Amino acid sequence: MPLVSMRQLLDEAAKGGYGVGAFNVNDMEQIQAIMEAAKETNSPVIIQASRGARQFAQDRYLYHLILAASELYPNIPIAMHQDHGNSFETCKSAIELGFTSVMMDGSLKADGKTPSTFEENVEVTRKVVDFAHERGITVEGEIGVLGGVEDGHGAGGSGLDHITDPDQAVEFAERTGVDALAIAIGTSHGAYKFTKKPDGSVLKMDVLIAIHKRLPNTHLVMHGSSSVPKDLQDIVNQYGGKLKETWGVPVEEIQLGIRNGVRKINVDTDNRLAITGAIRKVLWESPEKFDPRDYMKPAREAMQKVVALRMTQFGQAGHAGDYKPASIADIAKGYKDGSLSTRPLVAAK
Ligand SMILES: [Zn+2]
Repeated sequence: MPLVSMRQLLDEAAKGGYGVGAFNVNDMEQIQAIMEAAKETNSPVIIQASRGARQFAQDRYLYHLILAASELYPNIPIAMHQDHGNSFETCKSAIELGFTSVMMDGSLKADGKTPSTFEENVEVTRKVVDFAHERGITVEGEIGVLGGVEDGHGAGGSGLDHITDPDQAVEFAERTGVDALAIAIGTSHGAYKFTKKPDGSVLKMDVLIAIHKRLPNTHLVMHGSSSVPKDLQDIVNQYGGKLKETWGVPVEEIQLGIRNGVRKINVDTDNRLAITGAIRKVLWESPEKFDPRDYMKPAREAMQKVVALRMTQFGQAGHAGDYKPASIADIAKGYKDGSLSTRPLVAAK
């Protein structure tokens, strides 16, 4: 089937009470791993590419690889999403390329490092929403600033530096009309999220719940939500890797989020770890091997395993065929005639 609207995918997830993993890709094998996991679990899919991925693979390669996935798996709805767009121009170029969804991360200035003001964030996000909705494209915004750096994008520092304020989240949703809202609740990008098992002092689930209470129909997004499981770290280190001990976001916390309005969960690091561990194992055990397929095949299988597990844990498994995806043109009409609302429902404090 053609690539579908992320808005529709998330609206359906809200109806079904589940979350949808958004997995980052840079190359063909990662796309294949996601699609095989989706087929295995009968899941709708969000495939996302960061600016770094678009540079690494080149836009046209990525677009056509994802298009190939949509041809090869006609029963799986796929939304193609720009992760962390840093400017109107980045989002516009993604839309013109054929992405069906973009994130405008206006929480940072266009340099992708310096936190912006609230007014700057509203202004650039609103501009992207106007441009995107006219074309039937979904927009994710961000309020509050995530910790860490990924692919050169991020303010660095701890995830606790700029936690989302629930009142600001309400105002932001009302003034921008975004379809999905990324919030900062203490998570960070990359592998080194927490130096101990996270508890209520580092992961602000109470803030997430407070935001969901005020914005009960807004699709919330958790970034930096790899769980960084110890078994994946161990495989890397067992075969010559040097990862320092680290903790990610426990799956139970993500599931608590899903019960409180989280519909999109970004996962990248876990897949990177699975791939690297599998490649290291082959090269360590069989140093005579030199055919890339000898290690890329196990790498792809290792990632598929992680993705299928997350799809099951997030609840999207079994839901690929629940609905008939609308065309992007029909989604554009829906935004225009108001049947796809861009005004959030706001509950009193
Ligand atoms: Zn992110």
